[in-house]
Amino acid sequence: MRAARTVTTSALEPLRARMQATTALDIAGEVEFGHVVGTKLLPLPVWRLITGSRPAAEEFGRVFGGSPEPRPVDGVERWEVVSERSALSIVVAAPEAIGLEMKLWDSRGLAHHCDGTVFLTPTGRAGTPCGCPPLMAQRKERARFGQGPQPVTTVPFQLADGRELGMLRFRSSSWRFAETVDAFRAELAKVHGPALCELSVESVEFTAKNGRRVSYCKPVATVRGPWSLGLAA
Ligand SMILES: [Zn+2]
Repeated sequence: MRAARTVTTSALEPLRARMQATTALDIAGEVEFGHVVGTKLLPLPVWRLITGSRPAAEEFGRVFGGSPEPRPVDGVERWEVVSERSALSIVVAAPEAIGLEMKLWDSRGLAHHCDGTVFLTPTGRAGTPCGCPPLMAQRKERARFGQGPQPVTTVPFQLADGRELGMLRFRSSSWRFAETVDAFRAELAKVHGPALCELSVESVEFTAKNGRRVSYCKPVATVRGPWSLGLAA
């Protein structure tokens, strides 16, 4: 706590906003892409919803295709719906809603937790420079050798065609997606209010140098324009 007092209040304001954006929301479900069969993730360009609410799962399936399947975790009821969509029309409240955290875990737990510039935790260090390099490419290089944190990008949103489902969230540990956050936030800022966006997942396939076929899915978030209908409570 003592170190945090040395940081001016104005410097802490954006930090608080960022932390609130990623922790204080009441999230009704998570969207992920691909189709999990057993313990394997099939890289299919479709979105699926994971939620604790069966009515929410049924509504999602009704609008986007797919049937709810029970996916309990540690005895807690959860439902998964694999939709038929590779793109979702979503509503994002503001650029500050997009969270980008960087995390490095070691045997003792969370060893480095920052936003790429300043620490987010522990409380005593929050807001102070974390020492990560400025460029994503440099950060990625450090992470590759276990010396730097990895990104966790968070996009909280409502579905344009299913706002009654409440606030949903997409979280990604992809470096490529993290690299797009600045541009995505800049486009959101131009809208000056809630923005209609597209969250899509694209298949990427190529032949690697060793001749192996490589395929993976890539999430992409794009701003379409202002959202005038307001956000559901
Ligand atoms: Zn850092």
